[in-house]
Amino acid sequence: MTGRLLVAAAMILAFIAAAPVDAAARKKRCAPRRVEPPAVVYRGSGHLISSRQLARLEREYAARWARPMPITARGMSKTHRLLGFDHAGRVDVGLRPASAEGAWLRLWLRKRAIPYIAFRRAVQGQATGPHIHIGPGSGRLAKEVAE
Ligand SMILES: [Zn+2]
Repeated sequence: MTGRLLVAAAMILAFIAAAPVDAAARKKRCAPRRVEPPAVVYRGSGHLISSRQLARLEREYAARWARPMPITARGMSKTHRLLGFDHAGRVDVGLRPASAEGAWLRLWLRKRAIPYIAFRRAVQGQATGPHIHIGPGSGRLAKEVAE
């Protein structure tokens, strides 16, 4: 190797050794892809929606969207009983949280501090599909004990 080549090789090695390790970039590459949670919980006042508030909501929804609000469960239902949930006083609305109607409904509830759970997709044992659950989370029904 000529002197000139040696110098060039040494410079290349020095350059490689001195190359800063971009920790942030490496971390970014290794970080798991950001996944949206399947449900967003808004706790609000923690109280159930009153029948008066619900009647008003249904009126305002119908006036705004020119169709009735798609309620899929009002209070306790067979499905909730089978899943073991106490759904009394809670209301399920078959709307995607990100839809225009879903966003309108969530805002309506937030303005009144009415709790809700916005399900973006089905959650095993909790939701059969996307919907907005109005009210605090459903407690588990006490298991009946056969004696
Ligand atoms: Zn529900």
